[in-house]
Amino acid sequence: MTQKRDHNQIMQDFRLRRGRQLVAIAAALLLIIFLALIHNRSDLFGHVSKNTISAIELVVIAAFIGFSSANWRCPSCSRYLGQDINRSICKKCGARLR
Ligand SMILES: [Zn+2]
Repeated sequence: MTQKRDHNQIMQDFRLRRGRQLVAIAAALLLIIFLALIHNRSDLFGHVSKNTISAIELVVIAAFIGFSSANWRCPSCSRYLGQDINRSICKKCGARLR
């Protein structure tokens, strides 16, 4: 009985983490696309130097990696879950995630 509740908590926690991860991926992609747009359409957005764009891109990527390394972890054993957003079983502890 206790084990069943833990199992549900793991799946619920994973759903939350996966939702946050998808939002973070979408936000990072949109920001990168937007930055490319700013760079390519200086007629619309005014001139922003390539260095400024690159610096902001680096910050976006660093923030994304930082967020992922904190968020994208197994709810049961806290191991980083890797590249697969649709992972359903933790490789380390074997917990079912969804
Ligand atoms: Zn695990």
